[in-house]
Amino acid sequence: MQFSLSVRVRFAPSPTGSLHIGGARTALFNFLFARSRGGQFVLRLEDTDFERHQVEAETNILNSLRWLGLEWDEGPDCGGPYGPYRQSQRLELYQREAKRLLEAGLAYPCYCTPEVLAAEREKMRREGKVPRYTGRCRELSPQERAEWESRGVKPALRLKVPAEGSIVVRDLIRGEVVFDCATLDDFVIMKSSGVPTYNFACVVDDAQMRISHVIRAEEHLSNTPKQILVYRALGYELPAFAHVPMILAPDRSKLSKRHGATGVEEFRTQGLVPEALLNYLALLGWSPGSEQEIFSKEDLIARFSLEAVSKHAAVYDVQKLFWFNSQYLNLLPLERLYELAIPFFRQAGLDQVEKWGRDYVFQVLATVRSRARTLVELVDMSSYFFRDDFAYDPQGVAKFFLRPGVAELLREGKAVLASLPSFGEAEVEAAYRELIKRKGIKGGDLIHPTRLALTGRTVGPGLFEIMALLGRERCLERLERAAAWIERSGELPV
Ligand code: GLU
Repeated sequence: MQFSLSVRVRFAPSPTGSLHIGGARTALFNFLFARSRGGQFVLRLEDTDFERHQVEAETNILNSLRWLGLEWDEGPDCGGPYGPYRQSQRLELYQREAKRLLEAGLAYPCYCTPEVLAAEREKMRREGKVPRYTGRCRELSPQERAEWESRGVKPALRLKVPAEGSIVVRDLIRGEVVFDCATLDDFVIMKSSGVPTYNFACVVDDAQMRISHVIRAEEHLSNTPKQILVYRALGYELPAFAHVPMILAPDRSKLSKRHGATGVEEFRTQGLVPEALLNYLALLGWSPGSEQEIFSKEDLIARFSLEAVSKHAAVYDVQKLFWFNSQYLNLLPLERLYELAIPFFRQAGLDQVEKWGRDYVFQVLATVRSRARTLVELVDMSSYFFRDDFAYDPQGVAKFFLRPGVAELLREGKAVLASLPSFGEAEVEAAYRELIKRKGIKGGDLIHPTRLALTGRTVGPGLFEIMALLGRERCLERLERAAAWIERSGELPV
């Protein structure tokens, strides 16, 4: 079979769970490689594990990939010239190819029951041997086979693996990796149910879909010699292989749930922006060869190469991921930030943000974004610009409100603001500074309670910037509301 020279890569998830950072990173490297080489990026669902298959997982994987901006050229949703792109719809093809191997004597039916195989494995383990199939059914005579068949036993199909010699995997990241055939056994390519195993279906598909480079997780390296045997048996030309390094937890153990969120969807709901996650994932194993850390998708496409992917495991660092996110909250065009923030505004009960007009929302976002690490924080920090019914931070109340004369001071501030000819940041600041001076108080004596009155909080962007953005009317209302609240609270025992 002749391959075209063009680059074709694939991401082939099994829809048994949601998309995690490991899978997302594999998809990203495939995507970057395809785009950097003017090739095609194929999405294939390996959904032949009917017991573990979940429809929700499929939706989750497709949505997460889309959210990350990893658009595929061919796939289960959009089709393409080598479809269908889900293995459950390709069973006839695997059966046909398996039959070819059977007829050529390169594969054979195996009638061993799961119980017999399990007992055999157990025995080998007890004897300190590596469990492997003995090859019992390899030499069955036609009569013996006919006998099994007549008993209605459905066979699995096993590939004949050479007992000696070695298989060399030429890996674009790892160089040559040699596997001794003696460590392999005659593995199953078709189960007795007529469903292919991963190692068989994957090869048939990669070949039929004209995949030029198989870029996948390191965990699959041990499958590659078996797959090479399948390629050879079927007479397919080999693709290039690249196994991307593992992602480990900070303590260098296997990354798992106990290390916190690792699912793309979880990160999305936590308020990560896809650009940041993409940038972070790219650096998990790939090195740009410089100190630069911030890369847009276009930069990554321009710079990515498989040669610059490390063979060593990458260590996942959630702090660094959130650092990237805060960088992106500041770097993204306000337009994009707004688009990303809208669902979070809705979730926070601020569905009417649009009615404030884009200019105002953009200004709010520009004012608060340097302090936020996530979109959730960004929206929370923006909320008092869009609602009046906020509560006062209790610690702030104890510290700044419940002191003698604060209500009067806030009203004095209010009077000063009311008399200003215009309400820009500089005018407001000058007027407040003058009031501070006139009263002979410290700046904080006025600024802290005013901030609490206007925002309900004790920290945030510069107060005068907030005041100018809120506008005169809302400042006056909020100062009055706070003064009245303090007077009412003052009557209560504190
Ligand atoms: N379905 C396999 C997985 O999700 C694909 C491995 C491969 O890329 O060959 O791990």
